[in-house]
Amino acid sequence: MNYYNLKDKKETADFKAATIKGQGRDKGLFFPESIPPFDPQWIEDLHQFSNEDIAFQCMKDFVGNQVPADILRAIVSETVSFEIPLKKISGNIYSLELFHGPTLAFKDIGARFMSRCLSYFLKDENKKVTVLVATSGDTGGAVAHGFYKTPGVNVVILYPKNKVSMVQEKQLTTLGENISALEVNGSFDDCQNLVKQAFSDQEINADLFLTSANSINVARWLPQQVYYLLALKQWQKTEKQPPVISVPSGNFGNICAGILAYLRGLPVEHFIAACNENDSVPRYLKTQELLYHETVPTLSNAMDVGNPSNFVRISELFDNNFENIKNTISGYSVNDEKTLQTIRNVYTKYHYLLEPHSAVAYAALEQYLEENPGKKGFILGTAHPVKFPEAIEKAVQIEIDIPGSLQGLMKKEKKSIEIQPDFAELKRFLLTKSKGI
Ligand SMILES: *Cc1c(COP(=O)(O)O)cnc(C)c1O
Repeated sequence: MNYYNLKDKKETADFKAATIKGQGRDKGLFFPESIPPFDPQWIEDLHQFSNEDIAFQCMKDFVGNQVPADILRAIVSETVSFEIPLKKISGNIYSLELFHGPTLAFKDIGARFMSRCLSYFLKDENKKVTVLVATSGDTGGAVAHGFYKTPGVNVVILYPKNKVSMVQEKQLTTLGENISALEVNGSFDDCQNLVKQAFSDQEINADLFLTSANSINVARWLPQQVYYLLALKQWQKTEKQPPVISVPSGNFGNICAGILAYLRGLPVEHFIAACNENDSVPRYLKTQELLYHETVPTLSNAMDVGNPSNFVRISELFDNNFENIKNTISGYSVNDEKTLQTIRNVYTKYHYLLEPHSAVAYAALEQYLEENPGKKGFILGTAHPVKFPEAIEKAVQIEIDIPGSLQGLMKKEKKSIEIQPDFAELKRFLLTKSKGI
């Protein structure tokens, strides 16, 4: 499979080059040259296959012959090595719990796949790679964990000061070794802009071999299709109609992977882009006008994104046809008050504890199902409630037990370097660091 640059279709890269580069010229995102369809019989029989088989079938065409089959099998088997259960919450709403991985975030799945592909590709190269990543919360932890102590790879994470939860911050700042955390005195969009500038800075790129680990990177974006298949495998056991899928969305990588799986033949009734007050896409779906706003801080901070990077991929998937986009995706914007109210109601009525991101998805799905009776669906549970205790305690008066696996983490010392949202500061850090290694 080849990938082309959405900003300059003449630039193409194979899977290895696209993974190592992260993005193309002019900060363009890579996009697969073809959309390989699923075998309809295979989709009907999903329940007969192991998670590893499903992940392998899903990914093999995108990887091509650049990773030998036995290695790809080992990679996908590690990628889906924790449980991903589809749990029933209410009569018509389920939750696909994607938060049982090492950092309790759905991003573990994409990050594990990507880190293992990248280490495989770098094995024979003499280069050291710096993975530069902007995070609004969970990406950093998942990426740091995925690359921790990987030979040949340094990770530099930028996160917005005071805008990530305590557990998230600990996951970013306590690993040490090949992981550095930069605490940016600004918003997630500031972090993302700094990262984008670094990628196009000649001096930095002459000194360092930079790559991204956001869902911009195809090796992080594409494996997210896998859990939509794993959800359907479980859905088929009890439900006849295709599901409505509500995806809590920020940078739109997650929902974009689901739509890709749908266009390959996965049966889905409809997609919901569930956003907090950072709702440029829901507004676009109503007005056909894409206007970006300043990021507003909310309780679901991993979705505080004013300018979602993956939206261009969604447009491309639909050949930029607005009607087709609108018929497949509905957008909802859920504010903090409604988020808290949803956590409270769902906990009281169904004894199911949502965290703010999943609550946004739940509120949006509930509204859609009221407007479209007779349908059923599931939300993507993107993070474990323990990562957002402050918000949850505002909604329901319970204290969340910190799981054993996190207790050690909470005692570790935070190590971060504070910078202003000023590219010169990031540049100095990266250039100094490259001299030091
Ligand atoms: C990153 C994240 C999201 C948003 O995912 P995108 O792919 O950026 O749309 C939603 N929920 C949580 C908990 C996240 O960490």
